[in-house]
Amino acid sequence: METRSWHKHYPPEIPTSIAYDEKPLHHFLEESAKNYGKKKALYFMGKELTYNEVYEDTKGFASYLQKLGLEKGDRVSIMLPNCPQSVIAYYGVLMAGGVVVQTNPLYMERELEYQLKDSEAKMILCLDVLYPKVANVKANTSVEHVFVTGIKDYLPFPKNKIYPFIQRRQYQMLVKPEQSTDTHIWKNMLDESSGQVAPIDIDPKEDLALLQYTGGTTGFPKGVMLTHFNLVANTQMSVKWLYKSQKAKGTMLAILPFFHVYGMTVVMNFSVMMGNKMILMPKFEPEDVLKVISKQKPTLFPGAPTIYIALLNHPDLKKYDLSSIEACISGSAPLPIEVQEQFEKVTGGKLVEGYGLTETSPVTHSNFIWSNRVSGSIGVPWPDTDAKILKLDSEEEADHGDIGEISVKGPQVMKGYWNRQEETDQVLSEDGWFRTGDMGYVNDNGYFYIVDRKKDMIIAGGYNIYPREVEEILYEHEAVQEAVIIGIPDPYRGETVKAFIVKKQNSSVTEEELNEFCRKNIAAFKVPRIYEFREELPKTAVGKILRRTLVEEEKKKLEDQ
Ligand code: AMP
Repeated sequence: METRSWHKHYPPEIPTSIAYDEKPLHHFLEESAKNYGKKKALYFMGKELTYNEVYEDTKGFASYLQKLGLEKGDRVSIMLPNCPQSVIAYYGVLMAGGVVVQTNPLYMERELEYQLKDSEAKMILCLDVLYPKVANVKANTSVEHVFVTGIKDYLPFPKNKIYPFIQRRQYQMLVKPEQSTDTHIWKNMLDESSGQVAPIDIDPKEDLALLQYTGGTTGFPKGVMLTHFNLVANTQMSVKWLYKSQKAKGTMLAILPFFHVYGMTVVMNFSVMMGNKMILMPKFEPEDVLKVISKQKPTLFPGAPTIYIALLNHPDLKKYDLSSIEACISGSAPLPIEVQEQFEKVTGGKLVEGYGLTETSPVTHSNFIWSNRVSGSIGVPWPDTDAKILKLDSEEEADHGDIGEISVKGPQVMKGYWNRQEETDQVLSEDGWFRTGDMGYVNDNGYFYIVDRKKDMIIAGGYNIYPREVEEILYEHEAVQEAVIIGIPDPYRGETVKAFIVKKQNSSVTEEELNEFCRKNIAAFKVPRIYEFREELPKTAVGKILRRTLVEEEKKKLEDQ
């Protein structure tokens, strides 16, 4: 890659180009077990596991998968919140030659079924309380084996802390899974396993490590194909970026879920490569996080703006000692400068903004941590990562300083969308440039800024919500004639979901009834928080609802307030 304007800002410690290891991703764990076997790898609600312990169980899981007939390239879904099993199973699937499909544990049955069908997953690991969901959809999918684990597999059952991440209302009756030919209980699996894993020949640049679901620029969730090399490279970039962090010395606060690519690479793969300790938190509860920081003293804390905002607004913030924190990268949404400054004041550490997408493993840009940072900007492209601004819906580069679509190229850019060549061709050029769907510009110094999303995806509280998916549910209600979903600004969640509804004639459906209907069919975070009933919706000449007009109306309402 030729020299770019941003390269002059790179501190001497960060190379603009890196010699990446062409190896399978799970080698990170094997190497850390070899080099730091007795060091703590995980902390989970009071219990600690060493790298040796994690590695042993990973081999146990991997060899069990192979015994069941897992073949190279077979997809295995992991439907877990952050817990020891989410780390062990991830590397275990890779070690056995499989491809990980991360599944959000909050998914309702239809979402789960869609993902399992689309990925053609052969096996799934879920938490015991999620088992009923899996059991209900299994027959409609290609899943042959279900693995079940419980929090207590690595813990004495925690008092008052029973599965905080589950919508308990829906699963009060726990269907108890029993060991059978197609249902396997975690403890039994590890007990029965030989721990002997047949070596798999992996070509890191070709073979997939992950199918990571995202809506991408349009439509329904698609499986992003990330290779071993994509993820190894992005992890190695992050290690160089955080150059002050020393091997086997740092402690990482793992709040970001591993089922999202950001937590998976920047938190999990980074920590495992470094031989660092991870403090696993299955759910974000501000008070728990503050307590854990003051007791466990993490040095690194990647997060999203809503996380930092919630901590800063906690009434007892002053009671806690957050001074162990040295560096935080905030991603997934714009970081308000005030939040950045306040959080740095409270912790004495650095908080910088970064940017990325599922399709890019995820990080492409970030501010430098210890020097040359520009607040309000997403920073500069990472090593070996090129970026340019394209005129809207054109291949032509925008004039310097003009707003256009951000396009990126680098070793972290996906191979494509799973079974979706047409969608892949729309965003990925033959020479490797990926159109992000985000609108932005680059200033004279080479610092990038995001101004808006081209796509309609809503990001509420760190979760991605694709309007079409919610709209389709609403359209299934007998009283709904038209429905459109938009994101409106929300001071806490970043955005929140608003539904505009045109009722069918003579219908008297209420907001409560629609809400109940949505709650039964989709994860709670996607359910609209606000409903507005209208006589009609703005449309184009061909009858397409003008979502953008509604967004503009809402913006104007807020400005006029
Ligand atoms: P995901 O694929 O879930 O990682 O979501 C990627 C999207 O998150 C991007 O396309 C952006 O729209 C958004 N995003 C990520 N980082 C930032 C940031 N620093 N500022 C604004 N939007 C961001």
